[in-house]
Amino acid sequence: TQVTIKRALLSVSDKDGIVELARALAANGVELVSTGGTAKAIRDAGLEVKDVSDLTGFPEMMDGRVKTLHPVVHGGLLAVRDNAEHKAAMDSHGIGAIDLLVVNLYPFEQTVARGASRDEIIENIDIGGPAMVRSASKNHGFVTIVTDPSDYAELLAELDAQDGATSLAFRIRMAGKAFAKTASYDAAIANWFAFADAFSNPLGPDALKATPFVDKLPLAFTLKDTLRYGENPHQTAAVYLPQSVGARGIPQAQQVQGKELSYNNYNDADAALELVAEFAGGDPAVVIVKHANPCGVAQAPSLLQAWREALACDSVSAFGGIVATNVPLDGETARAICEIFTEVVIAPGADDAARAAFAAKKNLRLLLVEDLPDAARPGLQMKSIAGGMLLQSRDAGDIGPGDLKVVSKRAPSAQELADCLFAWKVAKHVKSNAIVFARDGATAGIGAGQMNRRDSGRIAAARAREAAQTAGWDNPRTIGSAMASDAFLPFADGIEVALEAGASVVIQPGGAMRDDEVIKAADDAGLAMVFTGMRHFRH
Ligand code: 5GP
Repeated sequence: TQVTIKRALLSVSDKDGIVELARALAANGVELVSTGGTAKAIRDAGLEVKDVSDLTGFPEMMDGRVKTLHPVVHGGLLAVRDNAEHKAAMDSHGIGAIDLLVVNLYPFEQTVARGASRDEIIENIDIGGPAMVRSASKNHGFVTIVTDPSDYAELLAELDAQDGATSLAFRIRMAGKAFAKTASYDAAIANWFAFADAFSNPLGPDALKATPFVDKLPLAFTLKDTLRYGENPHQTAAVYLPQSVGARGIPQAQQVQGKELSYNNYNDADAALELVAEFAGGDPAVVIVKHANPCGVAQAPSLLQAWREALACDSVSAFGGIVATNVPLDGETARAICEIFTEVVIAPGADDAARAAFAAKKNLRLLLVEDLPDAARPGLQMKSIAGGMLLQSRDAGDIGPGDLKVVSKRAPSAQELADCLFAWKVAKHVKSNAIVFARDGATAGIGAGQMNRRDSGRIAAARAREAAQTAGWDNPRTIGSAMASDAFLPFADGIEVALEAGASVVIQPGGAMRDDEVIKAADDAGLAMVFTGMRHFRH
């Protein structure tokens, strides 16, 4: 199963390390064949190399579209060396075996990323390269394929150790890697076509936002990291990066310190970042997340105050939490965060004092993002189910003051409206059924993930009472608060939850069959109520 390398074909766009590799191969007595640019680089280094066009008898033509697409090349790569018929074909057509193929492809993704013209992008769809890669990989029983410059060193080590040959195990591993490469290369191309198509939509970018291509699965992802394990230790896990340009999220964040991120860290940190991004450009805001749900959110004139108020919502759950801020971290806030055990802190920057404070907590993972993700961006969400996969556009729905419809007799005050919008923003990021009480720019109680809405409300109110006890307040903060419900209140008993907690205003989508009863219950109790006309289920 060892195959001695006698002849190699080198054809690379990324010329990194190619001259060194060619030199080492030549020193091993390997005959070198190459395409135009690669041959020039090798020749310029004083090495002997044959042109592919001498092999094929055709010049490279049509702007390089046709260079290696020829039976002399593909026969040399595909021939089964111990098959008599294949051997006879090689002899009668003058096809010499190619034992090693070193190829990396036209930089399609990079060309898209730098905003090149359509023509330039099309010209960077490599045709002959992937064809050769596939030929060599298919024939890995006899041919060695290398597609990644970072594998050159291992190839040479292999040749050294095996006396100028490669092992089958090495060839199989490299062939698998090569097929992964051509697969992701083609996925990137398909992705671009899907997007290019959407962008040329005569309805323009607004239509793009409304219909984010759920019918065109643009699945071009590359592996970023394998993780120690998944949600549980008996599960395996990995993180992938999209090949789209300008992605901003936890995978792109810079980790300044702390242990490796776990699967749950990624998931929770993402939930925290997505929620805090709702407050981008506004007053300092802090989000504390546990198990992908916020357990405290606050916005205040200073970051320190926002931290204290977010923590006060549920200081018990905040233990071991994930903290995200919408503004860079300062020293005093960082020191306050360090007073409790925190798994991950994410922020758009941190000053020296903040970094120094966190440095004392070796295990704390500090992640810095360049920019918060755009809360309104289009995008896709995937969820695998038994036997298939669900795809939906992300919930970029946003409600402003102008979208609210006052349905109660009593109109809400300006402060009540502000509390409503704050509670609503948070409720969007809480697993359904979600009930959120908020007052003065801080959550007072959050109830998540219950199978009925009343239970979520009871939990939120009970949390608020406990928080008041812990903080030594006379009253829970739900008194005079806004209550947000992520989906409509189906029955009048939803209003009872608000009243029991002492809320003075309710924000909910509306649209229930019994809206009339719900509105009457609010009016009877003197509550103000607004409808959003939009719901935010989250599962
Ligand atoms: P060079 O710089 O050596 O002239 O070109 C190297 C590049 O050409 C590699 O990225 C390789 O994948 C690509 N390539 C090799 N043969 C062909 C071909 O027949 N058609 C096209 N379009 N690209 C090729």
